[in-house]
Amino acid sequence: MSTLVTGIAELVTNDPSHGEGPSGVVPDAAVVVDGGRVAWVGAMRRAPAADVRVDVDGRAVVPGFVDSHTHLVFGGDRAGEFEARMAGRPYDGGGIASTVADTRAAGDDALSVRLHRLVAEARAQGTTTVEVKSGYGLSVADEARSLRLARTVTTETTFLGAHVVPPDHAGRREQYVDLVTGPMLAACVPHARWVDVFCEPASPHAFDADEARTVLNAGAAAGLGLRVHANQLSAGPGALLAVELGAASADHCTYLTAADVDALAGSETTATLLPGVEFSTRSPYPDARRLLDAGVQVALATDCNPGSCFTTSMPFCIALAVREMAMTPAEAVRAATFGGAKALRRSDIGHLGIGALADLAVVDAPSYRHIAYRPGVPLVRTLELPVRPAGAPGSA
Ligand SMILES: [Zn+2]
Repeated sequence: MSTLVTGIAELVTNDPSHGEGPSGVVPDAAVVVDGGRVAWVGAMRRAPAADVRVDVDGRAVVPGFVDSHTHLVFGGDRAGEFEARMAGRPYDGGGIASTVADTRAAGDDALSVRLHRLVAEARAQGTTTVEVKSGYGLSVADEARSLRLARTVTTETTFLGAHVVPPDHAGRREQYVDLVTGPMLAACVPHARWVDVFCEPASPHAFDADEARTVLNAGAAAGLGLRVHANQLSAGPGALLAVELGAASADHCTYLTAADVDALAGSETTATLLPGVEFSTRSPYPDARRLLDAGVQVALATDCNPGSCFTTSMPFCIALAVREMAMTPAEAVRAATFGGAKALRRSDIGHLGIGALADLAVVDAPSYRHIAYRPGVPLVRTLELPVRPAGAPGSA
């Protein structure tokens, strides 16, 4: 069954062959979706016929957001820590241990209900692809359980056993890295596509360059793709390590040296910026302009987690990117869609070129610019297209 989406005041395709600029913007547009994929894109007046018609009545349409960095499997929350931080206590990642305790204590059902609720919350704000990390279990059984649950909502699952050294391994870092790269990795590989590490020598809880390299090499040897929590709290070794090992993404990139920027610019590693974290920890924002001007592939993601940034809202992150990081609205929307797809090494999402997955998000405004222009207003939603009724000819 094909669907013709009409009444699109402004369509962002991220495919320059369809329209103006890198965002491939088409005014007064229509899209045909067939078999869950984009089959035709162009001016409304030239639109072909389809089985079903959906009219969005003068609204803008953008590719669904690709949130390439979240931590959605966890127990408890840290509202108290947030309140204390706003009163002046600095953030160093130490609160992760309290979420580890709450996650281990939670039943599968409680974790799953929370996870599905957060994914629905993201989807209601235009997110159509979400990456989900483990990292609050930090035991063989609890990490494997977190990833098994994450797999129920996405194929983009990431093993983050090297989030922090858990309290039960305090003072035994080497042993913990052995556990992560040995039995924990073996138990998690069946449920994971990626491996990630919190590489941050400035935090006593996280991992230095040698430890991070050991974790990433073990993950790669087990067939996982690489991602790195890099340069969040200091100009540490994470970004260079990500580039050296061919990681898909270096995430945070808040403190970068000129050498880091040069290395990222000459690489296939996306710099994923997470401005919700700087907002929620009252920290300096990453220098997005420097990265964009150097030609680095930039993505925006939420980092949704109970400690440093508890938002599922990609529109909020776009608004922050424009207001606080001097990205243009077009650059920010592109980073939240096409950039996220690059960070996940996916070519079937993050754009609305022919053959892309039909992940469309509707903006309740005539232009994508309103996403940043009207912060805090729930303007964006995922477009739910009609599906073939059960029992109709050809339905599976
Ligand atoms: Zn994170």
